[in-house]
Order: sequence, then structure tokens, then C-alpha cells
Amino acid sequence: MSVNTTLAGRIAVITGASSGLGAATAKRLAADGAKVALLARRADRLEVLAKEIEAEGGTALAIEADVTDATAMRAAAERVRTELGTADLLFNNAGVMLPAPIDERRTDQWQQQIDVNIGGLLNAIDAFVPQLVAAAAEKGVADLINTSSIAAQGVFPGFAVYCGSKAFVTHTSKNLRADLGPKQVRVSAVEPGLVSTELQGHVTDESANAWLDGVRQQLTWLEPEDIAAAVAYLAAQPARVNIQQITVMPTGQAS
Ligand code: NDP
Repeated sequence: MSVNTTLAGRIAVITGASSGLGAATAKRLAADGAKVALLARRADRLEVLAKEIEAEGGTALAIEADVTDATAMRAAAERVRTELGTADLLFNNAGVMLPAPIDERRTDQWQQQIDVNIGGLLNAIDAFVPQLVAAAAEKGVADLINTSSIAAQGVFPGFAVYCGSKAFVTHTSKNLRADLGPKQVRVSAVEPGLVSTELQGHVTDESANAWLDGVRQQLTWLEPEDIAAAVAYLAAQPARVNIQQITVMPTGQAS
């Protein structure tokens, strides 16, 4: 990784930084010159990633935090402010995908998706929006970038609760622009199609796994770095430009 200056002076917080899209985006934003705060539950993974980023000349702070714990998220925000500086970018990305046919009534998995994908997203917004607003007042711009999904737009058998949680992310992002745009905080929703990460590894339902295995054979999935590049692009726009929504699909995935 060579450190360039596209995002020099930026202080970025990444939730779900221990793997997949979050880890790749943390590396990319650091390579572009941002200081990065890495949040997730698996502290060992975060420490390894922070060392990797620092070995390449970047600055990284690892913070173990569960996004479903509002108090822990506020404490994490305070650590970011005191140890790195006022955050001006939140990549609000932690999420889980646990599909199963609705009549199997996996209410535990419904609840987990609601708690992380909706509740956790809002806890991160609660914890970091004050810093984004303060940073925007000082620097002229800040970014709230929420990870949604193509699931927000589509219909996938067995994925109703996940799709609903991601529709919440996209629509809430759009509405937050009304509150935060006047304060120079840009809000974007990133909607990826299929990306090779650990996300699919938590799926317990056989029919969903069979579908995922099938599409893995049929088409070339995106890599996490492809989404990291999209996030870096959003953050590097001039202050007057807010790309509201960006859908990044594998070339072979139509919907
Ligand atoms: P991964 O499973 O690789 O990453 C998920 C991340 O979320 C991990 O870092 C995990 O960290 C974190 N996480 C999960 N639960 C919690 C929690 N309670 N508190 C804190 N962190 C948590 O999957 P992806 O990188 O693919 O997923 C990232 C986002 O991208 C998700 O929102 C997902 O819905 C979305 N997405 C993914 C797509 C794909 O095809 N992969 C497509 C479209 C959207 P830890 O376990 O250490 O806490």
C-alpha cells in the first residue's frame, strides 16, 4: 500500500472492519491518506489489520465494540475523538444476512438482522453524527456512508427480513439528507450485489445456501476492494457533490 493524499486530513470510522467490505475499505481509505478507526467485535482481527495499515505508513485505531450496544458505541466515539480527532467520515457497514423461508419462523434470526442492520446502524449514527456535524462545520464537509444492498431493491425468496432491513438503510439514508445536507454532512447509501466475504458463511438455511452456491458457480462475484473503491470515490468528491446512492453489481448479476 502506498499512502497518497486524496483523503489526507480525513478521520474515518469503519464499522464491521474485521472482515469483508469493512476491512477492505479501511485499508483503502488509509491508503488514500485518512486516519482510520476500526470497529467490530473480533478485537484480534482488528489488531492485525491496524498493524498491517500502520506497517504501510497509515494510522489506525482498533476499537472492540458491538454495534447493538448503544453505550459501547458512544464510548467508542469518545475514544475516536480523543485519540484520532473528530470523525468526518462514518462507513456504517456492520451487518448480518440470515435468510430462511418465512414459515420456518426463525424469529431469533429475524431479530438479529433487525438488531444489527437497523439498530446497530442507528446506534452508530447516534454515536458519530455529533462529530460529523462538528467536522463539517469546521472543514466544510463530512460523510455518512451507509452499507445497504441490492436486496433493498429486489425480491429474493427467503430473504424478506434481510431485504426489509436493507430497504430501511436505503430509505433512511435518503431521508437523512434532509436533516444533514444543510449541515454539509453528505449521506450516501452503497448497494452492492454479490461480494465474496464471510457474510454468506453464517447462513444456516439449506435452500438459501443452495441458491448461493448456484450463483457462485454461475457468475463472478465482486471482491470487497470493488466496494472499497466506490466508498473512496464518494468521499473524494468536491464538497458540493453528494452521490446519494450507488449500486455496484457483478457484471453477470442482473438483479
Ligand atoms: P462480513 O461478514 O465479512 O462482515 C460483516 C462485518 O460486520 C464483520 O466485520 C462483523 O464483525 C461485523 N458485525 C456483525 N455483527 C456485528 C455486531 N453485532 N457488532 C459489531 N460488528 C458486527 O460481511 P460483508 O463484509 O459482506 O458485510 C458488510 C456489509 O455489507 C453488511 O452490512 C452486508 O449486509 C453488506 N452487503 C454485503 C454483500 C455481500 O454480498 N457480501 C452484498 C450487499 C451488502 P465482528 O463479527 O468481528 O463483530
